[in-house]
Amino acid sequence: MKRKKSLSVFVALIILVSACLGVFLFGHSDDSAENGGQSHTVKFISHYIDVGQGDSEFIEFPDGKTMLIDAGTDKYGETVTDYIKNLGYSKIDYLVGTHPHADHIGGMADVVNAFDIGSIYMPNASTNTKTFENLLEAIQDKGMTIKTAKAGMNIVFSEEEEYSADILAPIKDEYDDLNNYSVVIKITYGDSEFLYMGDAEKEVEEELLEGGTDVKADVIKAGHHGSNTSSSSDFVKAVGADYVIFSAGKDNDYGHPHPQIIKRWENVGAEIYRTDEDGTVVIGSDGRSITADAA
Ligand SMILES: [Zn+2]
Repeated sequence: MKRKKSLSVFVALIILVSACLGVFLFGHSDDSAENGGQSHTVKFISHYIDVGQGDSEFIEFPDGKTMLIDAGTDKYGETVTDYIKNLGYSKIDYLVGTHPHADHIGGMADVVNAFDIGSIYMPNASTNTKTFENLLEAIQDKGMTIKTAKAGMNIVFSEEEEYSADILAPIKDEYDDLNNYSVVIKITYGDSEFLYMGDAEKEVEEELLEGGTDVKADVIKAGHHGSNTSSSSDFVKAVGADYVIFSAGKDNDYGHPHPQIIKRWENVGAEIYRTDEDGTVVIGSDGRSITADAA
């Protein structure tokens, strides 16, 4: 018994000495030492703006470039523009309207009018609503054209800053449901992967899996506000996210997010965030690890 105890003390001592030696030998080449032993600096931030029953995600890249995916209903146009201005930005480099539904592009005309815009991406889908026409008019008035979003397109790639944003869907030219035209985006920063699903439903999730698209991600903005039309079991397993964000309005009429869908993500070990309860959700990355509530 005594012999065993002294052996474990010896082992502990060896571990301690090796650890000290490791810090001494390698400490200076490690980033954390440069940051005064603190964790790595968060350089990529994804904001899931609370726009009630709708979607709006604002992304800050490490080099100061920005992306906005959707802008809620027209009622929230000002909320979204104020939010971005308060962060100190006057330019949106990449503006994405996932699909022409009012809860995604309603506030976007305000955004187009309020900011210097780099490029605009939307799917090849249209609808004859006043909301959609207003947006097209605002874009035209600015003398801009829309780039048609399609699977396989790269929006931005920075070798130096180790990030890229790629379009995974829409894959087909035509869908029955407008939701399935949703521009699905995957952003990679270092080792961190963020997925933005728009309102893409099971049909698109199946297409992605069948096509062998790498959907694995650390963080996902769940499809269609957490409705059970999306987040199919196979897809949830393939993504295997650590953080899931549901963008939905408080006491909305649709029952979003669906309890069964919340459970499904929890079952793969995901931490759940929802704008109806948490308000705006902010998630950051230093290129290695994810920080929730990085604001
Ligand atoms: Zn929607």
